[in-house]
Amino acid sequence: MLAAACQASPPTYEVELCDDTVRADSPFLATHVAGMLSRTRGQVQQLVPGSREEPVEVWLQEELQLYRFRRGSYEHADGFWAEEAGRIHLRTEARHLERTLVHELVHSSLGEVWSLLPGTLEEGVCDWVSASVCPHSSAQLRAGRLSAACFGLGALEIELELRSAAPRGREEVIGSYASVLLEGGIEPPITPNEVFELEAGRSNSGLSGPRKKALYGLAFFLVDRIASRGAGLEPLYELCLKARAEGLSKVPTGWLLEAAELEGLESLEWKPGLAEAFSGAELAELVAMYPDFLGSAIDRLPIPARAATGQEELRFSMRVNPR
Ligand SMILES: [Zn+2]
Repeated sequence: MLAAACQASPPTYEVELCDDTVRADSPFLATHVAGMLSRTRGQVQQLVPGSREEPVEVWLQEELQLYRFRRGSYEHADGFWAEEAGRIHLRTEARHLERTLVHELVHSSLGEVWSLLPGTLEEGVCDWVSASVCPHSSAQLRAGRLSAACFGLGALEIELELRSAAPRGREEVIGSYASVLLEGGIEPPITPNEVFELEAGRSNSGLSGPRKKALYGLAFFLVDRIASRGAGLEPLYELCLKARAEGLSKVPTGWLLEAAELEGLESLEWKPGLAEAFSGAELAELVAMYPDFLGSAIDRLPIPARAATGQEELRFSMRVNPR
């Protein structure tokens, strides 16, 4: 009762939606988020095997707060799931409100057996569903998570190659390269085993912002690699069920590596897969994320004399190498 008495006070306006409730300090925002909730809830249930369908309450807050007198632990977050209260808290000014709502909705929907996923993997599951349910911000989420994973392991190199779009539609590599090396600045670098050992999703994890982000990135990479093989989250769920049946408290790391077709826990064994995970849409997002770096790299590219006359159209192709 004391804990309940110390809870932050609920926002003023309330919209009820079947069994769910959305509260905000403006009726517009409450209705807006209720709309998001009704659009996305069913899709989350569909994508998450073994999900629970319990009523959920969503609070929009200017400053994220669960208890009235304790602030600060959610400073860098845009939302969180308060399991005991059965409530999702979202920051009013969150950059990607719908994406954050879906991420927290997944936390709230995961049945008990999912708690057998070790370390930070649950965050990867939430982000994977979020990227699937919110396609308009999917490439941005993927590019952000995958580049954070590269920064965690060391650095991210973006290689540019100049091609000429020759007449008759044949592309020719002119052979000029430029590369940009973006350093992660995470010291010491993260080793892949940490994603299975550290719970970066906990507000009291004690991890620095960049380390936390990198662990979210690696968890996303792993879950995406397993889920993209065609069966979605089903294989991961099966591993949780199998671990439970064998009386284990967590899904063993070896099972997860096998499901993701990763050789082992050395950074070198994860980097080629990470490079592959960047498709055209994610590369385009990288250009948007680092326009100045890439612009200056393009300026440094030596342009062959025959192309400089304007008779040939030039194109750039990009490749990502985690370093
Ligand atoms: Zn989360």
